[in-house]
Amino acid sequence: MTRIFDNPAEFADDALDGFVAANRRYVARVDGGVVRSTEVPAGQVAVVIGGGSGHYPAFAGLVGPGLATASACGNMFASPAAGQVYRVAKAANAGGGVLLSYGNYAGDVLHFGQAQLRLNAEGIETRTVLVTDDIASAPLDQIEKRRGIAGDLTVFKIAGAAAEAGLDLDAVERLAIKANYRTRSLGVAFDGCTLPGAADPLFHVPAGRMSLGLGIHGEPGISEHAMPTASELAELLVGKLLNDKPEDAGDRVVAIVNGLGTVKYDELFLLFGKIEKLLGKAGLTVVEPECGELVTSLDMSGLSLTLLWLDEELEQYWSAPADTPAFRKGNLAPRRPRTQGTDTTMDEADVEQPTDAAAELGRQAVAVLAQVRDAIVEHEEELGKLDAIAGDGDHGIGMRRGVEAAFRAAEAANGASVGRILTAAGEAWSERAGGTSGALWGSAIIAAGQALGNKAGYSGEDAAAAVTGFADAITALGKAEPGDKTMVDALLPFRDAFLTEFDAGAPVDRALAAAAAAAEAAAADTARLRPLKGRARPLAEKSLGHPDPGAVSFGMIAARISQHIDAQLASPAGNGVQA
Ligand code: ADP
Ligand code: MG
Repeated sequence: MTRIFDNPAEFADDALDGFVAANRRYVARVDGGVVRSTEVPAGQVAVVIGGGSGHYPAFAGLVGPGLATASACGNMFASPAAGQVYRVAKAANAGGGVLLSYGNYAGDVLHFGQAQLRLNAEGIETRTVLVTDDIASAPLDQIEKRRGIAGDLTVFKIAGAAAEAGLDLDAVERLAIKANYRTRSLGVAFDGCTLPGAADPLFHVPAGRMSLGLGIHGEPGISEHAMPTASELAELLVGKLLNDKPEDAGDRVVAIVNGLGTVKYDELFLLFGKIEKLLGKAGLTVVEPECGELVTSLDMSGLSLTLLWLDEELEQYWSAPADTPAFRKGNLAPRRPRTQGTDTTMDEADVEQPTDAAAELGRQAVAVLAQVRDAIVEHEEELGKLDAIAGDGDHGIGMRRGVEAAFRAAEAANGASVGRILTAAGEAWSERAGGTSGALWGSAIIAAGQALGNKAGYSGEDAAAAVTGFADAITALGKAEPGDKTMVDALLPFRDAFLTEFDAGAPVDRALAAAAAAAEAAAADTARLRPLKGRARPLAEKSLGHPDPGAVSFGMIAARISQHIDAQLASPAGNGVQA
């Protein structure tokens, strides 16, 4: 139960403000999270962590010298939006590039991934290391599918120490990958947790029982057991982790007993004592262990055990000093306060000065978005029904929320260049739509905007670059292959038809018409495919004979834009894309 709040919807934000007020020595608030309030040496790799709120000290409590540079903080148990990650990473960047590291959850992967694309496109070199330590979430031969739980700490700590030591982005990334690869965790829960304002817990564990392998957001466990004794619990956790140990494991391990929210420290210590003995019996030496609350889950009653198998260099970075609100180790010289500003609301895009012609093209981009919105609103119900066949039925409403937000943001930016308008629209789309398709559309629109930039006129080459950028963003982020039955099955035929026509000398409006026709035909043709990606995958058979909703909506939008451009060119005042 969570009792202390004014408005439960603002719980995460209000708690973060208070956290910063209590820890100004360490952190400063930025839009979307926190960044160190102490100076980061120029050229140091920025380690940017993050995820949903409700897991304190993950993630904001781990920001400080020797550990993370900044943390993007989402709503309760929800990924931060891509724009927030982007702004936090920009504030953290000290010129040495950015390492994004976070637990492997679909929403986080999409939003952090989108931010990464954007940062890279702006020349801020950005890499990602996902934390995949939870052995209950997938078998060892699919380690990349595992989710991240308390192993966040070992990966973040190694990366942060490596950055502090002045290593470059390649080396920091390599060490973080190695730390993740050698970290294993397993959790148990004795009772559920309740979101602020909710009347009931997200899940229940029956009295006297224990759920093994339950996720930190209440994802189902792998088995339920009678409540064991402490010795039995220690044996269970140690046994399972040792069974899963990495191939090249040595005999020195970090052991972390992590409380998930409402297990008392005395109980954690009691269990730790048993675990340490068992590890010793197994021939392992425990190095600088941790026992306490490190990655929690609101008021969940439960705990986890994490083991990190060290080698020489990992041990060096694990032992290195760190000084953060929630994690302190060794001694670090006091840091000077940060001099770089943390106001990320003013970036270059805000001070652009578009010419009248560029602003006019921006206005035309807003008009195109109005058409896209109308097309979606007209077909919202149909798209929802299509998605309900094998998905979760929210494609219509999600697209509508996204495109309406995008249009509003674009309209608010009216007077700016095409690039700025599309960036604002894409950000709003992915932030408001929710769902997979929203993150993909948002990212693609931003990429198209980055390709078009601030110009007073666009050539056919510019249009081709925008189409390519749009498509690349979706494939880079969603990683769907042709034939997986996703929007990619309409997108790639669209891109290819556009480029083929354009290379053959067709003007942009003709190339677009051909591409839209190809997209619509390809979308209809997805009816014969089985979904291999996304939410529809588990119900693949049901989807046979029906087209993919994301492909269909893409075809609709392409057709609508093409009609709009044709109408503009036909009208006497039409001076749309210079064909
Ligand atoms: P969600 O799947 O999160 O409920 P939507 O219902 O809005 O989101 O969108 C579903 C559509 O998203 C699918 O029909 C498919 O076209 C598209 N999609 C899902 N996953 C991917 C992916 N990895 N790459 C490209 N498109 C995808
Ligand atoms: Mg859906």
